[in-house]
Amino acid sequence: MHKGIAVSPGVVVGVAYRVESVFGSTEPQTLADPEQIPAEIDRFNQAVSLSTVELEAIVLKVAQQLGSAEADIFKSHLQIVNDQGLLDKVRSLIENQELTALSALQIVLQGYAASFARIEHDYYRERLADVRDVISRIGSHLTAFPHAMPATSNNGSGSEHADEPVILVAHEILPSQAMSLGNLPIAGIVTETGGGTSHAAILSRSRGIPAVSGVTGITNDVRSGDLMVVDGRDGVVIVRPDREATAAYRKMQREFFDLKDRLVLNRDQPALSADGAPIELLANINNVADAQAAQKVGATGVGLFRTEYLFLTHADVPDEEEQYQHYRQIIEDSPNRAVTIRTLDLGGDKTVPYLGRRSEANPFMGWRSIRLSFEHPRLFERQIRAILRAGRHGKVNMLFPMITTLEELRYVNRLVEETRRNLRREGVPFGEDVKTGVMVEVPAAAVCIDAILRETDFISIGSNDLIQYLVAADRDNPKVAHLCEPLSPAIFKVLQMVLDACQRTGTPVTLCGEMAGQPRSVLALFGMGLRRFSMSPAFVPTIKALLSSVTTAQAERFAHQVLQLKTSEEIRGYLTARLHEVSSALEVFDSA
Ligand code: PEP
Ligand code: MG
Repeated sequence: MHKGIAVSPGVVVGVAYRVESVFGSTEPQTLADPEQIPAEIDRFNQAVSLSTVELEAIVLKVAQQLGSAEADIFKSHLQIVNDQGLLDKVRSLIENQELTALSALQIVLQGYAASFARIEHDYYRERLADVRDVISRIGSHLTAFPHAMPATSNNGSGSEHADEPVILVAHEILPSQAMSLGNLPIAGIVTETGGGTSHAAILSRSRGIPAVSGVTGITNDVRSGDLMVVDGRDGVVIVRPDREATAAYRKMQREFFDLKDRLVLNRDQPALSADGAPIELLANINNVADAQAAQKVGATGVGLFRTEYLFLTHADVPDEEEQYQHYRQIIEDSPNRAVTIRTLDLGGDKTVPYLGRRSEANPFMGWRSIRLSFEHPRLFERQIRAILRAGRHGKVNMLFPMITTLEELRYVNRLVEETRRNLRREGVPFGEDVKTGVMVEVPAAAVCIDAILRETDFISIGSNDLIQYLVAADRDNPKVAHLCEPLSPAIFKVLQMVLDACQRTGTPVTLCGEMAGQPRSVLALFGMGLRRFSMSPAFVPTIKALLSSVTTAQAERFAHQVLQLKTSEEIRGYLTARLHEVSSALEVFDSA
């Protein structure tokens, strides 16, 4: 049994599938028959040609959209893709060791990784990231990361568990890879790295896939084809469970999914507390599929659309027109066409090569989010234009992440005004009533909330970041995950301060961090006066059911008590007991 961090609730029994990024299985694969060698080399050559064509197009587009310095990165990728030494190594492995092209690429990459690791100079050592990128690009033309996955009813393990659902086991899942998981028959996810609010964790949650992260050593302990249990509530992973444990967890799995299916039947009911107070339950989305999921579960709008996923999954830089079309599609597919669109929040654990790769000791504290937009004003302005233009097609808000100072807010407001003027002058139609708002996720902004509220239309509390910055503990680092605890006195005090300021000024406020979908936190937040919660679509039915079981007065009592407690342990204990009283059936949807 392994213990990790519970990141996405639910229980699943399934068969392990170990992956290493684009390469699918980590075990080297040989060709079934030596006669396949020439065809395999052809396939490899074709993948190289396709990658070259792709990179040439990217160089042009990036130069045009961002400038020649940014395009240089891809020029260097073009050199790598045409490096005869690299290509010959792969061909020779296919020929002499009868490996598949993908396995040969993987072995070549491992060789490079070993030699780069010996380089002392940081700059050159970091060029490995470029080699890795190029090799992954070629690999994706041989068989993309998602396509390397087994099919639904037969997980390809060739084991006795061939019909079991698939549990992905990986060292790390990058946000861009996690995006493609939605199309795959994955029933559970276990990773060695990552914390409760890592973006890959958030994505598993939005897909309703039980997941556990921070499970040290799991990739050594499990082989593809092993039966395993993932309990995303307690953060427990069991490899090769015995018959008794398998039966017990299968029963829990059935109960969990039956309850989830029953809850979603509340989709057409309004969200009301037991005494009839109206609450808005909104969805956090990353793409069109999520917008559609938000409709299906009965969310009344989108409280947070993370636009960076368009950039992470796009072959090159999306230009203004591409962004406009994408945002328009999202708006049209979202509940009530109400969407809060957040400007780019790259950096931290989400990077795109064309904005430059900088190695930073503390990426979450560094060149991230709106700071990156400030450094690329043309890119930023094009995004603002695209959002304003899409604003004609629904009720659209524009949200700025990671605002830290009033100066930043003023600069952003000026930029929006200027962009509106330009659009007007050019005669380009746009949404005149698009409101602009600030994500309160840096403690400095929370502390100066009164000044912020005077100069913005609305705010959205990003509790994931607010927590990590308040407690100075990286949300991605499992070693300090115990500090990234939403149920803590410091967090509730800051939240109360922000909510009170919004109440005094009548400013609309949403909370869009993961707390908004966690039952115990929701009980306290509702009692503190919060009425707009934005969460992964999968949690909307649960939170609707929960709030319908509690009265405003009851929740106010809970909140009052929480604000008196001095430790996280006391708050956890107190809210666990209240959740049990209010709705014990929903306890399975919270993490232990
Ligand atoms: C947050 O920080 O709470 C948030 C919603 O934004 P993200 O998780 O994308 O950083
Ligand atoms: Mg954030």
